[in-house]
Amino acid sequence: MKPKLINIAIGLLAVAALTVVYTAGWFMGQTGQETALIKEAQAAGGRVKGPNVEAPDRYVYYPGTEKLAKDEVRVIACGTGMPDQRRGQASACFLFEFGNGEKLIFDLGTGSMRNISSLMIPYQYLTKVFLSHLHTDHWGGLSSLWAGGWTAGRPVPLEVWGPSGQTPDMGTKYAVEHFLKANNWDYQTRAYKITPVPGQIKVHEFDYRAENAVVYQENGITVRSWPAIHAGDGPVSFSIEYAGLKMVFSGDTTPNKWFVKYAKNADFVIHEVFPPPEIWVAWGNQPPQLGWRACCEFHTSGQSFGKIMSEIKPRHAVGYHFFNEEATRYVIYDSIRETYDGPLSMATDMMMWDITKDKIVERMAVSADKSWAVPGTTRQPPPEKGLAPVMSEFIKSGEWGPAFNAQNKVLDEHSKKYNLQDQDWRKQKPWYKPSK
Ligand SMILES: [Zn+2]
Ligand SMILES: [Zn+2]
Repeated sequence: MKPKLINIAIGLLAVAALTVVYTAGWFMGQTGQETALIKEAQAAGGRVKGPNVEAPDRYVYYPGTEKLAKDEVRVIACGTGMPDQRRGQASACFLFEFGNGEKLIFDLGTGSMRNISSLMIPYQYLTKVFLSHLHTDHWGGLSSLWAGGWTAGRPVPLEVWGPSGQTPDMGTKYAVEHFLKANNWDYQTRAYKITPVPGQIKVHEFDYRAENAVVYQENGITVRSWPAIHAGDGPVSFSIEYAGLKMVFSGDTTPNKWFVKYAKNADFVIHEVFPPPEIWVAWGNQPPQLGWRACCEFHTSGQSFGKIMSEIKPRHAVGYHFFNEEATRYVIYDSIRETYDGPLSMATDMMMWDITKDKIVERMAVSADKSWAVPGTTRQPPPEKGLAPVMSEFIKSGEWGPAFNAQNKVLDEHSKKYNLQDQDWRKQKPWYKPSK
């Protein structure tokens, strides 16, 4: 046959083959049978078998409704954005939940506690925080976990792991000690009323220069750190090993030899990725000479991110640390795809991943905008006796009795309901006029 006729023959055969496959798929779909084609489609949604039935596979995770298997890890993006704030995206934060019950927070950027609290995890389980470095977009949320978790029932001190610096005043220990000093008023005013114990923070500072060194090893979880290159000495990246799985969190870093070496062959790698220079000029209002350094000298561009992933070959890669919307997502995505063609998530807040030996699945966590803290299995210790009140007689003497007495009816009822007669705080007040 002439080449033209061969082409036509191949074309006709292809059309015939596709028609058979399509018709078979359609027919089997109508009759409720499953073909390989339909199974493929189920991974993207799941067949709904009636007008009033439970629908499978909605790509969503409802926090607190799924038990983790023993050898499973769940990672939730509690912050994926930038130092400047936006309502829809908090600064860097990733919560790791392990099948053995442990929960470790990697970075706790400004605003991220709103996302974490919406998961409605009792605060007794949110006590361990790992900091990649001390930029506020990676630890500015500590105040909310510290104070908010304290008022919401955390029974024990917080624990913070973080790197040293070139000098003591550039390290995590210094930062947390001075965080507590700066928050002294907050501490003193809560400590004597609730209990001072959850107001304490235990710091575990480790050497930022150590390579692949163990910084945490408990209950089958090993966390290691190595140096990152970002802004100054101190920043690190972490690997997290559990049940034969290796996960990596970059923190902030430019491309570096340690990351490529120690993240090699990890199952799951979260790495920062920045938009290209033009986005910084057009959207970020940066002067051009700063725009091309922001992305590409101080941070990691899409092309560099892709190159790193192609070298590491993770089972799944996650890019974070950019304002994620239509204007930026696809530009960054395309730049990554110039150098990497493996599995990839473009992280945004509340994206989550189920990680097992068999598969890694990306979903979105769906949680309440207006959640309350929920109790767990423990109770806080009672207030400590003997701590001096921090309000003077002068200030107390300003209390205006008529407005206090105006609430007597509701307080009397409360007192009666819960048998609080012998703990009636009003009796010490000069303005108290009991209702008849
Ligand atoms: Zn940083
Ligand atoms: Zn950052």
